[in-house]
Amino acid sequence: MFRLISAWLVLCILFPSAFFAQLGSASVSGKRHKRIVIRNATIVDGSGKPAAGPFDISIENDLITAIVSVDPVAVKEGNAKRPAAGDLEIDAVGKFVLPGLINLHGHTQDGRGGKPQPVEYCMKLWLACGITTVRDVGATKKTLEWREQSAANRIASPRIYGYGVFQASPSPANSEQARARIQEMKQAGYDGVKLFGVDRDIMRAMMDEAKKANLRVAHHTGVEETNAWDDIKFGTTSIEHWYGIPDAAIEGGRQNFPANYNYNNEVDRFRYAGRLWREAKWDQLTKVFDGMVEAGVAWNPTLDIYDASRDLQRAQTNPAFADYLHPVLEEYFKPNPANHGSYFIGWTSTDETFWKENYRIWMHSLLEFERRGGLIGVGEDAGFIYQMYGFGLIRELELHQEAGFHPLRVIQHATANNARILGEEDRLGRVRVGFKADLIVVNGNPLENFKVLYPTGIEELRDGKIVKTGGIEWTIKDGIPFHAPTLAAEIRAMVASARRNKA
Ligand SMILES: [Zn+2]
Repeated sequence: MFRLISAWLVLCILFPSAFFAQLGSASVSGKRHKRIVIRNATIVDGSGKPAAGPFDISIENDLITAIVSVDPVAVKEGNAKRPAAGDLEIDAVGKFVLPGLINLHGHTQDGRGGKPQPVEYCMKLWLACGITTVRDVGATKKTLEWREQSAANRIASPRIYGYGVFQASPSPANSEQARARIQEMKQAGYDGVKLFGVDRDIMRAMMDEAKKANLRVAHHTGVEETNAWDDIKFGTTSIEHWYGIPDAAIEGGRQNFPANYNYNNEVDRFRYAGRLWREAKWDQLTKVFDGMVEAGVAWNPTLDIYDASRDLQRAQTNPAFADYLHPVLEEYFKPNPANHGSYFIGWTSTDETFWKENYRIWMHSLLEFERRGGLIGVGEDAGFIYQMYGFGLIRELELHQEAGFHPLRVIQHATANNARILGEEDRLGRVRVGFKADLIVVNGNPLENFKVLYPTGIEELRDGKIVKTGGIEWTIKDGIPFHAPTLAAEIRAMVASARRNKA
């Protein structure tokens, strides 16, 4: 033991940062500080403008209070004006600082398939993956309690916006019930409404009432009576996923389903969803995009959650599962008609081929939508279809890049755009003085490689040796610094122990 300590001391003398890593990071993680200073950061501010640095960033309590350019000439001459020392100093030499990521389509889950799963697993994964805000689009009363606990820093969790589900049972069956349901949700304290496809008369009434109650609406526009034209007409805040957009551009108004198609059979539903975009007429689609732009309807595509449909083996053999997949979630992911989204029974190469084409048209549509002035957000929908919390959002960034967006734009989608969709663009989603201190400090350059954001990090060749690097160092939420590697270690321990108990 003594030898171990002395070896560590020698290490700390040689590399002072080792001392801080040992003593500093874990012990200050999750605690509020009066004043934090991040030194020598390269900033990607979330607005879409290029990276710049070095800057020193001062944080006081929950706010960014100063961003000071570090002038190399003044530093050399010893008269640089730099912020006074903080209670916590973060060295960001060679690191990138971004706004905390916003997950616009999250599900805060404490169980899967009827089995309990610790909610800490979900929340800590989000923080470890750089997510400082989650819009929960399946919020319950329990979610609203977590929202309050998170705001008071009684739990390690991103900031939560709870969007309650409109069709809670019994589902409103007429206009009066639709209006009453919205009023009830307003009184219960929900921040907004999550809507699945409903019949048009009910949608008209609930949207009108939601507007009066000042509640934003995230619409999973399904393959229903309504489509994107109804979102345009009634003023939906964001269309979730994508169905309803190609549906609004099909000649004849309905996809050419085979006679034996059954929407409630998930194998059918997801199989033929893969053949939907090809039926949309491009000149009609561009009219739908223009309609959405004009009405201010945003689009949160959640590309990651359909990734398995175009390459099932890739999804099922994610190397990160080895350390990070909770056994309850693992069980839930297994093909089973009783679990939503676990529909891969007899999935064929033909299905994957159609889905690959589906993605090509979808991605091209996203580019065209933004080119015409559309607002695009980023959400993960994890907890389903082989997507783990947090990892799913980073995968979503990779897919926005694959769609053809510049990485600066992709980061803007996940930060400033998402803040706008939440109606919080004046205080969230930017590295800017006066904004909430929601920031991430990244070991590496996400503009070059979004994979640096995963808790599993990346490998680099240095002096002929493979070195493990990357990952987020700090996730700062509301001015509270969370040491991401410490959180990741806690999650791995949680997963390992749950597996032992199961065995
Ligand atoms: Zn969802």
